[in-house]
Amino acid sequence: MAKLKKGTRCTICKAKGKKEKAIVFLPHHRLALCKKHFIEWFEKRVEKTIKEFKMFSRKDKILVAVSGGKDSLALWNTLNKLGYEADGFYIDLGIPEYSEDSKKLAITFSERIKRPLHIVSLKEEIAPIPVIEKSTNRPACSACGTVKRYYMNKYAKELGYSIIATGHNLDDEAAVLFGNTLSWDIKYLKRQYPVLEEENGFVRKVKPLCKITEKEAALYAFFNNIEYIEYECPFSEGASSIEYKELLSQLEEKHPGTKLQFYTNFLKKMYPILKEHEKKQSEEVSSCKICGEPTFWDICSICRLKEKVAAGN
Ligand code: AMP
Ligand code: ZN
Ligand code: ZN
Repeated sequence: MAKLKKGTRCTICKAKGKKEKAIVFLPHHRLALCKKHFIEWFEKRVEKTIKEFKMFSRKDKILVAVSGGKDSLALWNTLNKLGYEADGFYIDLGIPEYSEDSKKLAITFSERIKRPLHIVSLKEEIAPIPVIEKSTNRPACSACGTVKRYYMNKYAKELGYSIIATGHNLDDEAAVLFGNTLSWDIKYLKRQYPVLEEENGFVRKVKPLCKITEKEAALYAFFNNIEYIEYECPFSEGASSIEYKELLSQLEEKHPGTKLQFYTNFLKKMYPILKEHEKKQSEEVSSCKICGEPTFWDICSICRLKEKVAAGN
């Protein structure tokens, strides 16, 4: 976050004739804010994003995918404060230390805001991530993504939630967009919208923090005394998206607003073109012959994964 000059006053307090000192400076929004007004600004920005993309309303039952990290906990806190009906969903991936620590933090937070947290254990469903990695020879991160998507969707339906909200932030979205643009991966670019509509057995998925930076989410968690897991998953080391994040952050330092512009201009200018293209080339979704969940193949990736893990034992 850009440095705050000594003695800077909160922009909003100043407009109200008060003289509160600012403790946060958001250069890309040209705002210097005190703690109270930063929290207010953050929550309003999330609410505005929810409305802008018509993500959900106060009538919907929302399942927040909680990793124990700052983003998903900040999101859960915000939705709860804004009066949405939002419960938590945690997938215990069985990663030594990391999963135990993050699970504890997710449980502690659910007790604090008095909302239920549904927990699914991958060890009970298939096998822990390190075992899956060994039996499939696939990088853990790719198996992890598949597993998260599958179980979020399956359990949201079983538990009666119509929306899945994840904590993906602007840094995540801009980095993935950057990667997909480098390879001009149309198939993935098409899916880079903060709302993926409910269809063919998939529950609607939304990303209400898509216009919030990683640093803003960390500050929001800090100001609200939310304890979150501060270290990265040991399996994520060396992931290319981390490099893209670093590159974009360097650009952001020099030119504040770069990330936001890159992402929002994609949504405004490029996404509509890709959507038109999609209409012409819609892919057939069918049901998995084994578990019945939606898939583009005969047998879904999780059932194929289960077969591989079983063969490896
Ligand atoms: P990541 O893929 O780790 O960057 O996480 C992106 C988002 O996915 C998080 O903000 C959460 O909403 C969700 N998520 C990640 N890990 C888990 C997990 N173990 N259980 C439930 N949701 C998760
Ligand atoms: Zn203020
Ligand atoms: Zn299946």
